[in-house]
Amino acid sequence: MGYIVMDMEWNQAMSSQSAVFNKLPIHLRGEIIQIGAVRLTDDFLPGDEFQIDVRPVFFKKMHYKVEKLTGIDKYRLEHGLGFKEAFAKFREWCGEGTTFLTWGCDDRNIMEQNIIVHDLDWDWIDRWINLQVIYNVQTEAGRNQTGLSIAMEHFGIEQTRVAHDALGDAYNTSLVCSKLDLLSGIEQYDNASKVLSIKNCKVQNGGDNAQEAIEHNAFTGYPTREEAFSSKAVSAPECPVCGGTLSCSRWINQGDRRYMALCSCKDDGQFLVRIKLRLTADDTWTVNRIIYRADEKQIQYYKSKAHPEGRRRKRRSKKATAAHSHS
Ligand SMILES: [Zn+2]
Repeated sequence: MGYIVMDMEWNQAMSSQSAVFNKLPIHLRGEIIQIGAVRLTDDFLPGDEFQIDVRPVFFKKMHYKVEKLTGIDKYRLEHGLGFKEAFAKFREWCGEGTTFLTWGCDDRNIMEQNIIVHDLDWDWIDRWINLQVIYNVQTEAGRNQTGLSIAMEHFGIEQTRVAHDALGDAYNTSLVCSKLDLLSGIEQYDNASKVLSIKNCKVQNGGDNAQEAIEHNAFTGYPTREEAFSSKAVSAPECPVCGGTLSCSRWINQGDRRYMALCSCKDDGQFLVRIKLRLTADDTWTVNRIIYRADEKQIQYYKSKAHPEGRRRKRRSKKATAAHSHS
């Protein structure tokens, strides 16, 4: 099991009305342009380091604020790797059984969103810990969101690395870790985060909650693709809110072994369910399923894929006469 302190930089859309959002199933808040990480040693001290630049494909133009803050410009990013490749390298560096330690909730949210829009897997990530929770408990800082620089000041840590650089911030965060009682902090984490931080994380998400994945499941060990797909556990999900029955529309094949359906609960409204099938090394099939609360945008997205305009028109014109004679 590895503890990895992680930090990222991400680019933003120039405008929330940007046309690129029509192509995306979720409202992508930030596209990752840099991942930095520090592996903690067995004594919870800073160990190996990792950094990679990622070339954005959705928000290609650097937002002036991000460029100013990070000093990263488009010329630097031309040499970055695509997310898929960068993420694979990062995963390989992390190894199995990774627990990510981050300062705040943003890095987790942004990472999961980026994994979703690139249709990759996060089942290899064991756990996410928001270090602010542990810091707040152990320094009696209460419920406030403490900035990293305040935490460094609190422990008298001198800033030796660049801030707003993914690896620099990850390193600084790992120095804060070395001042915390991380072991007991992680043990008490679930309880403490119930009391303290879940509230923090929600405040940070603001109005974006509708687009967050609310359930992620992996189903493994199916001998065939058909058996995987026809399994009730996979294709007849329970309501992630109340556990009741969901009634689902037909599954839309999105290519590349990806499917989606719109499901609704009579009490909790609509959900977008996305499934991805994958053949594993031992020749069995694994299914990753993600459930989002469906807002108007996602319902429209589903409908646009379910009834592509061109195809619908073609079908209609052929059968137009027959259909009309019945009505
Ligand atoms: Zn429900």
